[in-house]
Amino acid sequence: MKIIVLGAGIIGISTAWYLAAEGHEVTVVDRQPDAALETSFANGAQISVSFCEPWAHAGAPFKVAKWLLRDDSPLLFRPRLDPYQWRWGLKFLGQCSDAAFARNVQQLVALGAYSHESLKSLVAQTGIEYQRLERGILHFFSSQADFDAGAELMRRHGVDRRVLNRAEVLKVEPALSAFGAQIQGGTYTPSDESGDARVFTQALAGLCRERGVRFLYEHDILGLDRVGGQIGGVRLFDRHGGQRSTLSAEHYVAAMGSFTAPLLRPVGIDLDIYPAKGYSATLKLKRPEAASVVSLLDDTRKIAISRLGDQVRIAGTAEMAGLDQSLDSATARVRCAALVQRYEELFPGVADTSVPNFWTGLRPSTPSNIPYIGRSKLPNLWLNAGHGTLGWTHGAGSGRALAELIAGRQPQLNFGFCGPATVRALRPVAQTG
Ligand SMILES: Cc1cc2nc3c(=O)[nH]c(=O)nc-3n(C[C@H](O)[C@H](O)[C@H](O)COP(=O)(O)OP(=O)(O)OC[C@H]3O[C@@H](n4cnc5c(N)ncnc54)[C@H](O)[C@@H]3O)c2cc1C
Repeated sequence: MKIIVLGAGIIGISTAWYLAAEGHEVTVVDRQPDAALETSFANGAQISVSFCEPWAHAGAPFKVAKWLLRDDSPLLFRPRLDPYQWRWGLKFLGQCSDAAFARNVQQLVALGAYSHESLKSLVAQTGIEYQRLERGILHFFSSQADFDAGAELMRRHGVDRRVLNRAEVLKVEPALSAFGAQIQGGTYTPSDESGDARVFTQALAGLCRERGVRFLYEHDILGLDRVGGQIGGVRLFDRHGGQRSTLSAEHYVAAMGSFTAPLLRPVGIDLDIYPAKGYSATLKLKRPEAASVVSLLDDTRKIAISRLGDQVRIAGTAEMAGLDQSLDSATARVRCAALVQRYEELFPGVADTSVPNFWTGLRPSTPSNIPYIGRSKLPNLWLNAGHGTLGWTHGAGSGRALAELIAGRQPQLNFGFCGPATVRALRPVAQTG
């Protein structure tokens, strides 16, 4: 079949890869000159199958309210005159219960495990190199109360995490020793890993091209045309040539990250995806031998720290403030500076902080953290969007699952895929260990 994939981030490229493997004729469209130049560009680099807590949990409203007025808070909600932001916020509150949390974690872990297995076999098959480190993820706490709660939380949901005291934390990652006195403990998942999502996605896009996938870069997607009960074409603007055109296929996959929701609303598909702006700094290491190799989560600041060769990536924080991608606002400056400052507190003198390579990206977030994967109510329009904090972790599996659904097969995981043909009531799932 002829299939157009809209968006060349980790999700669109993974989808294109698995669709091409099924023998389809695939075209990928993106406004950027290459793959992974938006949210998949400089994220936290973590493949965090076991660290997948949704933001929405019973204690979240209290924490968010406490953070509301602090420019450097981990999660910042900036109220706007935007009905979609308010609707998202209300639905988020609806997910802040123990029952919803348990349901969401089960699905995220199922998708994560399926995706991890898909990523591993894809890497074994292709040999893509992307600064991969299979050293696990270590979540460390500076507050005893948060440590007690954090250690208990995921164990209740059957997620295997080693609970470590301070000495054990430092044994797993000795580079934390300068900060050691302030660490109360941690949790560690040795099976998680890290690697550069941009490098991976661009390499996979190159292999897609070799498989015959056609790429239309520097093409703005202006909108989709609804003809009768389905999509008849996608309207494009060629940034290079300055022309408009309409491209048609038998099926369309929407994988435009945070832009999926506004682009699909005119054809009657109303998705609850709202951008959660995050930031990262990528620093060159001055003393690589003193830098961490285990991927880290700093609970106090809610930031990820991942080693990428001779560099380190510090990423995190979320700001619900619309589609703004600026790095030069007062808030952006505070939040970027806080990342570097925290790294310096944790690892004094290890990295060159004079050239911080700040970056910002919009996480395509849903209130539950569960992405939309599957068929929309228009039979030839498929969704692969809304991966929020976990798009890199869930990328390979989301692409593979959607290709299977399009082929009429049921992916082998217990996940609430969208679409009339595939939607299933979630069975209670076996706890993942
Ligand atoms: C600070 C930060 C840290 C993160 N850390 C992690 C992490 O450690 N682990 C993890 O698993 N995830 C992490 N994430 C989340 C992850 O990066 C995202 O979930 C993922 O990149 C989303 O991929 P995507 O393909 O859906 O979106 P994108 O990568 O944004 O791709 C969408 C594509 O659609 C294109 N597009 C959109 N609109 C149009 C249009 N109108 N016309 C043409 N093209 C268009 C864009 O150019 C883009 O290339 C992090 C995110 C942030 C912001």
